Amino acid sequence: MVLYRLKWSDYMENINEKEMYSEKLKQIQRRFKKEEVIYDAIFANFQNLSIYVGLYYMKKLKCYKLYWFDLDDYDNRYFNRYVNEVHVSNYYVNLLMSFLNNYDGITEISNVKSEENFFMFYCYKKTGDNKNINISVNRFLPREAIKLCDLILSMGEYLPHKFNSLFDELLARINDKVNNNDYLEDYEIDILKCDLDEVYGSKISKDGHIFYSKDLIKYVEKIGNEYYAYIEEDGKRISVIISPDSKTGTTQIYCSCPGEYLCKHSNAVIRAIRDKKWNKFAKIVYMNPNLHAIERIEDFDYFLCVDVVDDKFIVINHEGNIEEVEIYDPGRVCNWKILADTKDKMLKNKLNI
Ligand SMILES: [Zn+2]
Repeated sequence: MVLYRLKWSDYMENINEKEMYSEKLKQIQRRFKKEEVIYDAIFANFQNLSIYVGLYYMKKLKCYKLYWFDLDDYDNRYFNRYVNEVHVSNYYVNLLMSFLNNYDGITEISNVKSEENFFMFYCYKKTGDNKNINISVNRFLPREAIKLCDLILSMGEYLPHKFNSLFDELLARINDKVNNNDYLEDYEIDILKCDLDEVYGSKISKDGHIFYSKDLIKYVEKIGNEYYAYIEEDGKRISVIISPDSKTGTTQIYCSCPGEYLCKHSNAVIRAIRDKKWNKFAKIVYMNPNLHAIERIEDFDYFLCVDVVDDKFIVINHEGNIEEVEIYDPGRVCNWKILADTKDKMLKNKLNI
């Protein structure tokens, strides 16, 4: 039995919180040293959850069990308080074994660049060609791991529903969901100083430079610590959000276009930010007529408005995507309040007010 089989600490050096997880993992695995481990998985800081999952053959009981632990809560002195277990049928394990026997795909992926959103899966049962499956990724399973989806999802079937979102996130890229929802990717860049050619690759960076010179970025504004931008390209509406985190030195980049986030649009927006080409958004707030003013204070939320078309405001919604919202309710009453107009009075002119 190898006690420290997960090389967690290799990735987690110098990070106190993660060292704590590493210690907890060792403690948990020590508890199972007499059992036979089939696979281990770790989610670190996924959706603010850090969990360990292990499938074990319990030698005395002669059955399979899946165990999971919330690593934030776990306290080794009170193991019984924190242990979560579920009986796993032989049928499932047989399916798993036949999957492994017939598996002919990638067995090793290690593309971990940061300690956040870290997923690690290690299978101790070997595949037909005598390999262990060993993957560690940040946030998303890459497309080449598509054949491993079923194996990883099958683990999720035994976990509580609250963990579904972990798997959704992990599989987002494989499912192509990553292009049309609000998943953001982290990049270790300083947007004000980094070499854009290096980060984006010279071709996209050149496209970004050309795009920037065409003046298609209608609005760029710094709100809080984030930068928001709105682009119109051939009648298409595109939003870009850039969120640097000064504590971690990483930056989240989001673009609503169908391509990757490191696209010419976000590249052009970074250029506009560097040149301080600010042009502020109009801001509108919905005054829900069914709420009292005091309730609305709690509910207070404004939208960035980029245009007015056919009785609709075009806004950037809270997921960062472009959305059309009705200006008037069925009784032709406008429940929106304008908090701020653009420099060229876009709302005033379009609404004729
Ligand atoms: Zn884009």
